[in-house]
Amino acid sequence: MSSLTDSISLPVAPGVPETRIPRFGLGVYESEGEDCYNSVLWALEAGYRLIDSAEWYENEEESGRAIRDFMKKSGTPRSEIFYTTKLMKNLGYDHVRKSIKESLRLAGLDYIDLYLIHGPHPNEKMRLESWRAIEDAVAEGVIRAAGVSNLGVRHLEQLYSAGLKVPIAVNQMDLHPFMRRKELVEYCQSKGIHMEAWAPLVRGMRFDHPAIKSLADKHKKSPAQVLIRWGLQKGYIVIPKSIKKQRVQENAQVFDFQLTNEDMASLENLDEHLVTDWDPSEDP
Ligand code: NDP
Repeated sequence: MSSLTDSISLPVAPGVPETRIPRFGLGVYESEGEDCYNSVLWALEAGYRLIDSAEWYENEEESGRAIRDFMKKSGTPRSEIFYTTKLMKNLGYDHVRKSIKESLRLAGLDYIDLYLIHGPHPNEKMRLESWRAIEDAVAEGVIRAAGVSNLGVRHLEQLYSAGLKVPIAVNQMDLHPFMRRKELVEYCQSKGIHMEAWAPLVRGMRFDHPAIKSLADKHKKSPAQVLIRWGLQKGYIVIPKSIKKQRVQENAQVFDFQLTNEDMASLENLDEHLVTDWDPSEDP
């Protein structure tokens, strides 16, 4: 992992152009209004090329506007920026088709690089209807890659057993040394699903943990940078959030150091199944 723009090729449906997701990006959960606009702009100026929004966050307009303004100002083509958004609720085929159209309209973009089902609720039938609606949007060219978030093994098995025209490219889960989700990660990796780590900074809850502090001191880096580096070295796509310019920049300064095998091993035993926000992965 050597640079901010390192990317991986996602599995996509036949006929869809190659779709590469940067390994590092900006999350915008709880970034409101101009805070969101500014953070996306600062991130793109600092070299980030992946922006992770969602219908839920109510900032798809600000995210898209910042991306478009940056492209205009810098001459960066759309193909060099990767935009993710997510479906808030699995409320049936027609609803999902409308949600996708509305996400595109709000962001002012012609296509979404990665579209995720945000969570499993309310049930299997509705999850499958969401996936069918996403498949049709992929066939129309307005979504490139598709994935899920917060889905457990059972939910994924149900989707696979229904037969999928579009591969599940990503599962976005809370992943950090205090929430390792070993079994789910192994399952997803065995299916070719890439793991994307939400709450990679543990939402700020463990910056003072002695194991994190000691690695930060050792590498002369911040606790946030150590946590981001852990996610990158685990092979995850990592999307820390900040609305502060200095932190947006700091979080990207993670390509000039490496955690050793010993450092990584010292983080292996910290798992406490820490739920920092929500965990519906075992829900029906
Ligand atoms: P993070 O783990 O990224 O932590 C964000 C918190 O850390 C904020 O309070 C931020 O404050 C603070 N912070 C950021 N950088 C630093 C720093 N260098 N030093 C000190 N504090 C810092 O949490 P998120 O929940 O935001 O997760 C990241 C992204 O993952 C989200 O933004 C969203 O895109 C996605 N996500 C997805 C979910 C899902 O269900 N699929 C659920 C939750 C998140 P400040 O902004 O003030 O700097």
